[in-house]
Amino acid sequence: MWRDVPEALWDDWTWQQQNRITRLDQLEALIDLTEGEREAFIQSQGQFRVSITPYYAALMDPQDPRCPIRQQAVPQAGELEVFDFELRDPLAEEDHMPAPGITHRYPDRVLFYVIHHCPVYCRHCTRKRKVSDPTTAASRLQIEAGLDYIARTPTIKDVLLSGGDPLSLSDERLDDILGRLLAVDHVELVRIGTRNPVTLPQRVTPALAEVLRRHRPLYVHTHFNHPTECTPEAALALERLADAGCVLGNQMVLLKGVNDDAEAVLELNRWLLRHRCRPYYIFQCDMAEGITHFRTPLARGVEIIDRLRGWASGMAVPHFVIDLPGGGGKVSLLPQYRVATDGPWVTFRNFEGRLFQFHDVAP
Ligand code: SF4
Repeated sequence: MWRDVPEALWDDWTWQQQNRITRLDQLEALIDLTEGEREAFIQSQGQFRVSITPYYAALMDPQDPRCPIRQQAVPQAGELEVFDFELRDPLAEEDHMPAPGITHRYPDRVLFYVIHHCPVYCRHCTRKRKVSDPTTAASRLQIEAGLDYIARTPTIKDVLLSGGDPLSLSDERLDDILGRLLAVDHVELVRIGTRNPVTLPQRVTPALAEVLRRHRPLYVHTHFNHPTECTPEAALALERLADAGCVLGNQMVLLKGVNDDAEAVLELNRWLLRHRCRPYYIFQCDMAEGITHFRTPLARGVEIIDRLRGWASGMAVPHFVIDLPGGGGKVSLLPQYRVATDGPWVTFRNFEGRLFQFHDVAP
C-alpha cells in the first residue's frame, strides 16, 4: 500500500499520524481479515477506536491472525465478550482524583493524564474507558489545574505523565509541562509512559530529544511487548532517548497468544538491554472490560520469570506484578525458590532445579 511513499515521508511522524488506518476498507486492503476480526471491527466502533500507524501496520502478518502485532492492533472477537467480574476502571483511578486528570493514590506519586490520543489504540488497553475518547481530552485549563495541584502538594515527589500517550503532545507543549513540573521544588523526578517508540518511533526526532535533554531527571517507560516490535526504527528511538539522558525502562503486558512465551520474552528483554532499556515490569493483564481474552493464568507469568532467572542476566529479569483492582497497588509474584526449612537450615532450589542449603541466623 505504501510502496511508493518516499522514505522522507515515511520517516515523518506527522505523515504517519495523518495516514493512520482507521477504517475497515483500509484494513481490508492490507490484510486478510477473518470473519471474527471484521465483525469485531464493526461492533467495536463507538466503544474503542481503531487506529494503526502505517509503520506498525507494516509489521503485521497479512495472512496470520495470530500475528502478535495484529492481535494488539486489530479488534478481536474476545473484545466484545462481557464478564461480570470485569471493571470499567480496574485501578480505581477516577476514585482517587483530587483534581481532574490527577490520580493521587500513593503519598509521593501522581499520575497526570495529559492527553487522550495514542498513535495506535492497543486492543489490550486498560484505560479503554477514556483513551481515544475526545470527551476526555485534557484541556489547557485542566492541565493548568493539575500543575497547580502538584505545585501546592508538597508530598508529591514523582509525577508520571500518562494518557493516552504524552509524546502525542507537541514538542512545545511537552517542553512547557516538563519545565514547569521540574521547577517545583518538591518534584524530584518526572516519568513519561509512552508507546511511541513501539508504534511510532519516528516521533522521537532529534528535536524532541533536545527538548527532553533539557529536563532532568527524566524517566521514560516504554511498552514493548514482542520481539517483532524490535526494529531498527525502534532501536534508533531508544538510542535518541538514552543519548538525551532519559533513563529507560520497559513495562511489558503479558498477553495470551502474543507474548506468553518465555523464549519470546527473553529475546525481547535481551534486545531491550542491548538498547539501554531495562526490562522493568511484566504486568498481569488487568481486569478491565473487554480484555479478558488476553489474560493468562497467574501461574504463566511466574513460569516465565522462573525460565528467565539464572538463564539470563538479572537485569533481563523484570518484576512480574499485578496491579490490584480497586487501587490496591502493585504486588509482585515470584517462583517458589525456598523448598524446605529445618531449624536454621533452609533448602533452596536454583534455576537448574538443584538443591542447596543455607544456614540462616536467629532473628
Ligand atoms: S499506548 Fe497505552 S494508553 Fe494508548 S492505547 Fe496503548 S496501552 Fe492504551
